[in-house]
Amino acid sequence: MNERQKIPAVDRVLLQLPDLIEAHGRQPVTACVRAELAAAREGARHGLPLPEEAALLAAIRRRAEASARPHLRPVFNLTGTVLHTNLGRALLADEAVALMTEAARSPCALEYDLASGGRGDRDDLVCELLVELAAASLPADAYAATVVNNNAAAVLLTLNALAQGKEAVVSRGELVEIGGAFRIPDVMRRARVKLVEVGATNCTHERDYAEAIGPRTALLLKVHASNYAVVGFTKSVDEKAIAGIAHAAGVPFVVDLGSGALTDFTAFGLPAEPMPQQALAAGADIVTFSGDKLLGGPQAGLIVGRKELIARIKKNPLKRALRVGKTTLAALEATLRLYRDPQRLAARLPTLRLLTRPVAGIEALGQRLLPAVQAALGERAAVTLQPCASQIGSGALPVERLPSAALALRPPGHRTGKALAALEAAFRALPIPVIGSVQGDALRFDLRCLEDKDEARFTAQLAQLKF
Ligand SMILES: *Cc1c(COP(=O)(O)O)cnc(C)c1O
Repeated sequence: MNERQKIPAVDRVLLQLPDLIEAHGRQPVTACVRAELAAAREGARHGLPLPEEAALLAAIRRRAEASARPHLRPVFNLTGTVLHTNLGRALLADEAVALMTEAARSPCALEYDLASGGRGDRDDLVCELLVELAAASLPADAYAATVVNNNAAAVLLTLNALAQGKEAVVSRGELVEIGGAFRIPDVMRRARVKLVEVGATNCTHERDYAEAIGPRTALLLKVHASNYAVVGFTKSVDEKAIAGIAHAAGVPFVVDLGSGALTDFTAFGLPAEPMPQQALAAGADIVTFSGDKLLGGPQAGLIVGRKELIARIKKNPLKRALRVGKTTLAALEATLRLYRDPQRLAARLPTLRLLTRPVAGIEALGQRLLPAVQAALGERAAVTLQPCASQIGSGALPVERLPSAALALRPPGHRTGKALAALEAAFRALPIPVIGSVQGDALRFDLRCLEDKDEARFTAQLAQLKF
């Protein structure tokens, strides 16, 4: 009898896996059984012995569990970048998660006016809050807001609605690229707006703006150069002056703030970040900013500005294509409400809590973790606790660093590239993958974003490290 004939029948194998079928369903488990049997058959064809029954069943279990695991998995972000775009940016406050969950579960008054019983507007859920917070010092009845999928969408929509077929004037120093696919000149083209560049890379003067204005000018745009800094001999024109030039020419002034902090970061000991309040008070007619950067909310693009301009933006057909859903609006509303109470903001808003975390607390956590991590690694790496500098991320405050502490894992020897890659891979393979960063000869885990409440979950899984 040859090996192939000894391959068990699918049904016979299934009989031994009632609990797995109960957990995952008959069809997915059957698919796993077939896949493992096919692998065994293939192995046998190449002269390999058939797996023992126990090994076969274990492989089927592993396959079923792996395929049932969600692709979007939580990780420990120990990269040192707090708002990490690839790791999902801002963590939502409990209040936001609660309202979002409720909106997801039950019918909600998304576009329904409960007072009149008539049709409502989804932007109304957050419009008042946004105007109250972002246009704080201005007459509330002259301002309005609308929400789209992200800030890239906000810029695209604003430009298309206010300047399609016409010109927008931008400083050369602000023609930025933000993370690969978002370049201001490309967005302008897609919005069907002609870009008129003014000034030089490092210097733009008031007269540059004034001279660029002509009969086809539809707006003046300022873009916050979020992810880089121009240093040395530089000159840019402040918002008040650009607003003056725009208004003298009878065109609106639009500011893409990028991150946009809704509260004064210096009050929390953090570096200053441009605020929508300041831009609007300086005369900007429209500001756009992200929901999931420093604001600490869900992915969204917020557009706040003069009522008549917001009305034009909302009438544009692109708005419908770029609008957000109920769960986003729920998370955004709850997040914005937290800003009404600045005293408790740093405790309730995870982004701000992480950014303001005292370094002494981070170091204390490091001291507690060090023995456990060292024990889990044995000879594979020497673990030390060392000072490091976190960055805010997502283009916010690109040159500023926050003092922090990191576990540094150093494999022995000199040429440690492979050993480092193996260490990284082992931590990524944990049930909650741990993502660090390789710096020189060490794998570094910046502990800023490992909150004390997550300590037990972090250490519990160290025993499962496999090399
Ligand atoms: C981040 C950023 C954007 C894009 O925002 P998303 O919300 O990621 O789409 C646009 N402009 C500036 C200046 C930014 O910093």
